[in-house]
Amino acid sequence: MTDKKISVVYRYKDGLYVNLTNRCPTACVFCIKNAWAMDYHGNNLNLAGAEPAPSEVISLAKAEWAAAPFSEFVFCGYGEPTMRLEAMLSCARLIRNGRAEPVPANIRIRLNTNGLACAVWGRDVVSEMKGLIDSVHVSLNTADPVQWAAIMRPMEPWAANGFETVKDFIRRAANCLPETFATAVEGNEVDMDKFRALAAELGATPRVRPRLEAGEER
Ligand code: SF4
Repeated sequence: MTDKKISVVYRYKDGLYVNLTNRCPTACVFCIKNAWAMDYHGNNLNLAGAEPAPSEVISLAKAEWAAAPFSEFVFCGYGEPTMRLEAMLSCARLIRNGRAEPVPANIRIRLNTNGLACAVWGRDVVSEMKGLIDSVHVSLNTADPVQWAAIMRPMEPWAANGFETVKDFIRRAANCLPETFATAVEGNEVDMDKFRALAAELGATPRVRPRLEAGEER
């Protein structure tokens, strides 16, 4: 446990990142939150159960913008943002409605996700993101369902059909959101040609990224 102030929002490159929750329906083998003791480049992302309200997130975003503008608002912390779907959508709505000024209403809003939200919420949540989320990066990682389960380590009850659900999420996102990436982390003995082919078949742009042990981007 650290005494360091909790970061609800944090800067990375030219984006403002939002740490909405520490809850996650997967325990990916490449997740660095435990190895890095909930720290990310000097930010303490351990919310210790105190998940922020949208009003708190927006107030912090305004202050950050006043200190220095950012080019992107990104839902990505040590947890799956869509576990707080309504809070996430509320933050985006407040921005789009001009209630986060001086943050521009048309700022690029990105979601980094494991793609299980439709399974978690039991409905098509992608259509609810239309007009709010500009870019979604879905952690698909492989074209093989058995390998997906081994890499993502989904919790019950999302293990059985998780891979198919994630594929469906990507298809839906590619159909109704401006930009959809399917991502894969290097170093998992994945057939990247098959991964790229599946991503393209689903309508997404494939993106292979390095493991974060090297301190690379997210
Ligand atoms: S989805 Fe993200 S937070 Fe959840 S286990 Fe995987 S890397 Fe970690």
